[in-house]
Amino acid sequence: MKVLKFGGTSVADAESIDCVSKIIKKDKNNLTVVISALGGITNILSIMLEKAGNGDDSYKNNINEIEKRHLKLIKNRIPITKQSGVVSFVKTQLNNLENLLDSVFSLREITLKSSATITSFGEILSCSIIYEIFKYQKIDVIFEDSRNLIETELQNNREIVNLIKTKNKVISFFKKNNSRVTLIPGFIASNNNGETTTLGRGGSDYTAALLANILDVNILEIWTDVSGMYTANPKLVSEAIPITNLSYYEAMELSHFGAKVIYPPTLQPIIEKQIPMIIKNTFKPDDQGTLINSSSNTNGQIVKGISHIDNVAIVTLEGNGMIGIPGFSNRLFEAISKKNINIIMITQASSEYSICIGLKSEDAQEAKKSIDDEFKFEISLSKVYPAKVEDDMVNLAIVGDKMKDHQGISGKLFSSLGSNNINIRAIAQGSSERNISIIIDRINIKKALNTLHESFFESQIKELNLFVTGVGNVGGKLLEQINKQEKYLSKNLHLKIRVMGISNSKKMILSNEPISLNNWKSLLENGINADRDLYYKNIKSKNLRNSIFIDNTASEIISKEYSKYLNNSIGVVTCNKIACADELKNYKKLKNISRKFNSPFLFETNVGAGLPVIDTLNNLVASGDRIIKIQAILSGSLNFIFNNFKKGKSFSDVVKKAEELGFTEPDPKIDLSGVDVARKILILARESGLNIELKQVKNNTFLPSESLNTASKEEFYKSLKKNSNHFNKILNDAELKKCRLKYIAQLEDGIASVGLKHVNKEHDFYNIEGSDNIILFYTNRYADQPLIVKGAGAGAAVTAAGIFADIIRIGKK
Ligand code: ADP
Ligand code: ASP
Ligand code: MG
Repeated sequence: MKVLKFGGTSVADAESIDCVSKIIKKDKNNLTVVISALGGITNILSIMLEKAGNGDDSYKNNINEIEKRHLKLIKNRIPITKQSGVVSFVKTQLNNLENLLDSVFSLREITLKSSATITSFGEILSCSIIYEIFKYQKIDVIFEDSRNLIETELQNNREIVNLIKTKNKVISFFKKNNSRVTLIPGFIASNNNGETTTLGRGGSDYTAALLANILDVNILEIWTDVSGMYTANPKLVSEAIPITNLSYYEAMELSHFGAKVIYPPTLQPIIEKQIPMIIKNTFKPDDQGTLINSSSNTNGQIVKGISHIDNVAIVTLEGNGMIGIPGFSNRLFEAISKKNINIIMITQASSEYSICIGLKSEDAQEAKKSIDDEFKFEISLSKVYPAKVEDDMVNLAIVGDKMKDHQGISGKLFSSLGSNNINIRAIAQGSSERNISIIIDRINIKKALNTLHESFFESQIKELNLFVTGVGNVGGKLLEQINKQEKYLSKNLHLKIRVMGISNSKKMILSNEPISLNNWKSLLENGINADRDLYYKNIKSKNLRNSIFIDNTASEIISKEYSKYLNNSIGVVTCNKIACADELKNYKKLKNISRKFNSPFLFETNVGAGLPVIDTLNNLVASGDRIIKIQAILSGSLNFIFNNFKKGKSFSDVVKKAEELGFTEPDPKIDLSGVDVARKILILARESGLNIELKQVKNNTFLPSESLNTASKEEFYKSLKKNSNHFNKILNDAELKKCRLKYIAQLEDGIASVGLKHVNKEHDFYNIEGSDNIILFYTNRYADQPLIVKGAGAGAAVTAAGIFADIIRIGKK
C-alpha cells in the first residue's frame, strides 16, 4: 500500500485533475489518496473569514467566485446527466458556508471553531467533486471524510493530533474497507466533540504522513507542481535545481526554514517509522523528484539547500542590568510562549548584554508588549530598555547534514554576502550544526539567495550584470565583443555576462531579462527616453549581484555619478578619465567608497586604451616595487598626428583625419592642448602613490594661444588652418635636427610633465608608429632596463577590449 498526496496546486482545475487521474490509474498498488482544496481556495476562505470578522460584508462576493470554480470543474468533467447530485451538494455547502460567515459578521468575532469550520470547506468541496470524477472515470474508489479518522485535542490553544485515538480509527476503517483507491481530504480533522478542526495551513502533507505512519506503507508520495525540493525557492532563484536526495533531518530543516513544498510537521511521523518519502511533480511525472529517507547521500554536495522565511521581525531586549543576572532569558521566552508565539531564531551576545529573537512580523508587536509587561519593573529602573522591534526582515538558512564536518562553510556564507554588501543582522547556528541561519533586510532577499546559490551550487558559473552607458564607437564595439565571446567566457572562465541595461544620451533600455545583443540597436531605438536618474534607480532597485555600471562616454556629468553607484555596491568600469583626473579629494573619495562597499572601480582604459598599463603599475606597487621614473608616449592621437604630419601636408587636415578615424577625443582640442595626456600621467602618478593635482602637471603646450582659446570645434579647426606657419615651423625645426616630434609624458622625482619633444634616432620612442603608445617603467627592480608596455594606444576596438578586460577582472575576483 502507498499513500499519495496531491496538493492544491495539483488539483487547481480540470486539466490538472486529469494528470492526477493518470498517475492514479498507472499505479497498480492499493492507494490511499489525500487531496487538498482546489489551489487558492483555502486562502480565499481565510480572507472571507477575516473580512466577516472585521465587519466587511464583501465576503459575500467571494462566495460566487468559489461557486464558479467548483461548478466549472463539475461541468468540465462530469456528464450532465450525473451532475445534479454533486451540484446540489456544492450549493448546500456554500449556503452553509455563507450562514456561518454571516454569524461571524454579526458577532464580529473569529473563534478557533469558526475559523476551522470555515476553512475546512475547501477540502470538503474538492474531495466530493473529485470523488465523482474518479467514479465516472471508472476508478475503484471510496471516499472517507478525514473528520471520521483524525482526532485532535486542544493543547496550549493549538490543535494537536491525538495519535492513539487516530490510530484506532484509521485501523478500524481500513479493516472494513479495501477498495483500490481510498480518497481522503487532507488538512481537516475533528475533536472529541465531533467539531471540525484543522491541522494548520499546508496541513494536507501532515494528514498524508499520519496515514502513512499508521498504515505502515512502503512509501509516501507528495505530488505537487515542482519536481522536488529545490536547492532554493525556484520562484526566486532561476538556477535552482531539484535535490535528488535528502535525509529526513535535512528535509525537516529546509521545510522548517520556509521551503513550503513540505509542511514541517510532516516529517515526524515518517521518521518514526523510517518510511521513505518522495516529492514528485504531477505535471512532469517522469522527473526524478526528491527522495527523502534516512541515508544522507551528499553526492559531494555539503550544503544541500537554502531556504528562507519571509516577513520576519527581530525583537531585541538589551540593557546593562541583564549582565550576570540569571533568569532573564527564561522570563523572556516564557513571556513569549504564553502568547503562543513561535520563535524562529534566537541569538544572545556572549556579553549577555542583549538577547535577540526572530519571529514572524505579525507576532512582533504582541511579543514586544508581553516582553515589556514582563520586564516592567526592570524597565522602570532603566536596567533594561523596552524591547526594540525591527521589521521587514527575512530569515535565511543553509542546510546540510555534513556541514559540521567541513570548515569554511560559514566563512563562505559571510564573505559572499559581504562582497555583495548584504548586511547580516543576526546569526545562529543550530546545535546540530545542520543549519546556519541568518537574518537580513527583506529588500536583499532575492540578491542574497542568488548570491549564496551561486557560491554553494553554481561555483562554476559567476554571473555579471552589466548596465552600459554610451554606445557610440567604444560602447558599440564592447557590446559586439561581449556578444561574440559569450560562449567562450561561459565555457572557459565560467562567466555569464548579462547586459541588463543600455543607455545613450537619447534612449535607454531597462530590462528584467538579459538584452539580446544581436539586435540591441533596434531595441534601443524603440527604448524609452534616456533619464539618468531613472536609470540609476532602476539598477539600484533591481539589486542584482555583481552589478557593474559601465561608462563609455567622456561626459563629466556621468563621471559625477560614480559615487552613487559605488555606494550601493554597484561596480564601475570606465574609460572616461574625468573622475580619476578630478580634484585629488574626489579621486580619493571614489577609491575609498570602492573599498568600503566592496564595489570594484576599474579604469584601465584611462591610460593606453586597451594596454595593461594601470594593471601593470598596480602589480608593481602591490608587490613592493618602487617607481623611480615613468616616461611615456600616452597619446595615440598626438602620436598619430605627428607621425602623419609630413612636409607639404596641412596640420589641420591631419588632425581632421585622426578625428575621423576615431583616434581623438570627441573634442580634439583636449588632445592637442595636452590636457588629455596631462590627465593620463596624473592618473599614473596617483596610482603610484603620489598625491597631486592636475594643475601641478607641467604642461608645455605647442598650440598657439589663439587655438587654445577657441570656444567650438569649428573655431578650433579654423585657428589650426590660420596658424599653419606655426605648425610648419615646429616640423621644420625638428627635421633640421634629424629628429621626430613626440609628445612625451614624464614622472620623475614627484614631478609630472607633458610636452612636445624632439626625439633622435637613438631614442626608444623614435620608431613608435601610428597611434601606438609606449610606457617605460623604471623601478627599483627594473632600474637599468625599464619594464616596457607598448602597442596600439587608441581606437574604439582596443579601448572596448580594455573595458572588457576590466569586466573580466571583476568576474575572476
Ligand atoms: P501544494 O499545493 O502541492 O501543497 P505548495 O504551494 O504548498 O504546493 O508547495 C509547492 C510550492 O513550494 C512550489 O510551487 C514552490 O513555489 C514553493 N517552494 C518554496 N521553496 C521551495 C523549495 N525549496 N523547493 C521546491 N518548492 C519550493
Ligand atoms: N488547503 C490547505 C491549505 O491551503 C491545506 C493544504 O493545502 O495542505 O493550507
Ligand atoms: Mg502544500
